[in-house]
Amino acid sequence: MSDGLVPRLRDLGRGSQRDRARLGAVEESERWFRALVEYAPDAVLVIGHGGVVRYASPAVTRLLGHDPERLADTLFLDLVPASDRGAASLALATTEGETRRGRWSMVHRDSGLVAVEGVAERPPQDAPLAGVVLALRAAVASPGERPADGRSFYDDLTGLPTRALFEDRATHAFARARRAGQPVAILMVDLEDMGPVNEVLGSAAGDEMLLEVARRLDSGLRAGDTGARVGESEFAVLLEGFERANEATEVARRLVTSLCRSVRVGGEEVLPNPCVGVAVAEDGGGVAMDLLRDAGVAAYAARGRGRRPVRFEPAMRASLVERLEVSEDLELALERDQLVVLFQPLVDLGDEGIKSAEALLRWRHPRAGVISPVDFIPLAEETGTIVPIGRHVIRTACAQLARWQEGGRVDDDFRVSVNISGRELREPDLPAVVKAALEEEGLLPGRLMIEVTETAVLQDLDTARIRLSELRALGVGITLDDYGVGRPPLAHVYGLPVDEVKVEGAFVGDPNDDALARAVSRLRDELGVGIVAKGIDERDQVEAVRALGCSAGQGFLFAPPLTAEDLSRRLGRGQDQDRQAARPAGG
Ligand code: C2E
Ligand code: MG
Repeated sequence: MSDGLVPRLRDLGRGSQRDRARLGAVEESERWFRALVEYAPDAVLVIGHGGVVRYASPAVTRLLGHDPERLADTLFLDLVPASDRGAASLALATTEGETRRGRWSMVHRDSGLVAVEGVAERPPQDAPLAGVVLALRAAVASPGERPADGRSFYDDLTGLPTRALFEDRATHAFARARRAGQPVAILMVDLEDMGPVNEVLGSAAGDEMLLEVARRLDSGLRAGDTGARVGESEFAVLLEGFERANEATEVARRLVTSLCRSVRVGGEEVLPNPCVGVAVAEDGGGVAMDLLRDAGVAAYAARGRGRRPVRFEPAMRASLVERLEVSEDLELALERDQLVVLFQPLVDLGDEGIKSAEALLRWRHPRAGVISPVDFIPLAEETGTIVPIGRHVIRTACAQLARWQEGGRVDDDFRVSVNISGRELREPDLPAVVKAALEEEGLLPGRLMIEVTETAVLQDLDTARIRLSELRALGVGITLDDYGVGRPPLAHVYGLPVDEVKVEGAFVGDPNDDALARAVSRLRDELGVGIVAKGIDERDQVEAVRALGCSAGQGFLFAPPLTAEDLSRRLGRGQDQDRQAARPAGG
């Protein structure tokens, strides 16, 4: 939404009196519409091609702390933690005329993560606005809490419980089921044709259809089961007090039969076309909200499969990439210049100045938008494509560091780290590739850190030991990433050449995890290994990681992964300003 239009019209307006009067009206109406967007309580974003933010309204500052202008041209999904990118991507994958809703968390500029609710809409092709229009507002922080902002527990249209009440009941049902050792199930019903009905027959007809579906849903349930309207065209059902998982599928089948009957709305016979997903938690294990999400994933998988309810399987969630049918494109992604390297700053935990940056890969897919490395690196490892991709990351990271260096943006001790997967580590020429990249850019080897996870190292410990020693012999630093995740931290036992270990900030705060704390202090004190904390998204974690002796920290609290240009700007602004921006007042 540029300011361009008004000045251009003003130039034109040097014409006749009538032109000027008409121009006044146009200007007035443009001002009115702009004010409407700018003062709307929800933050409005326009997300363009490749998931890039094209516009952010001023309300985004209240919600996320970011300056709307600074958000323009950044990747939307970089404001979303990896665990929630699936939910956000699903909402953004809306097609013309379809409204999608979702909940996920987003990175606040200086106070960690914020739970948001998003409503996404894609304007028709001929609209002057290209991309997805996304309205965001703060969501209820956790299932147990009461809704804020006057949100109600019952839906105005259907009178059914809302998502807030559903989540509350589901949480209680889980607790009961755990005690009784019984299963809980959630069914998700999505009405595939809601968009077309609203469009063709009008929203009053759409409302009639929703009402009728709600009535059928409610009358088909046993007393004690909860049916709720959890989205624009989504209903959820909570089932408890049954013995075997297929009883839930049985209820789902009955529900589908009743929902499939045509509805008379706006003088027409319409088929509701429900897609029903079923997710069952045996013994009430897990978290209620995860089960709701799984049911949603299963409902999505049920699309276009006729009237059959689909039971959730982990494989459905496993690969967003496969679901989007983009795996074959990965081979060509590199050639087509779709692989972008972002840089997330690491700050000194003393003065919070930026000391180094981690290179993190993104795939800007032309149809699917930005795809996270968690979604495509496993596939790239399987097919071997990770090898050329990894080389591209190493070269890009070195070239970028050299550019910062030449531009005087960084000091001589500023470093860049690159993640290396197990497969890359097994390539005998990895050290040669690294050496060539450094020489090409005229960088001293000490400016580069190679990050490997314990899991990658353990895939082939002997080769890992050799390869890491070769890299270290070049003068490159080695970081052991995800230290202590899922197993006792034992780096010193494996005799690995390691300069630094990276721990998950959230684990450090956990007072029960003394094994990690003990191992870390031993590494630090006896072996002189540096300790770095990642995933710091709340101010409270900073003290805990400092207490553990961490020298540097990384996380959304300080900065999300940034494009090279954005990081340049931060570096260029001078680190004093950065430090102040990262600290909340009085902190
Ligand atoms: P991400 O950018 O989505 O990257 C996820 C993982 O993909 C990385 O985890 C790394 O193992 C792998 N990866 C990324 N780029 C490459 C690459 O070029 N080559 C290879 N082989 N693997 C790659 P890692 O290293 O733990 O990176 C930190 C992750 O944590 C990043 O996710 C980052 O966006 C995210 N993150 C940063 N700050 C926070 C925070 O405050 N909270 C949370 N929850 N996550 C954060
Ligand atoms: Mg890493």
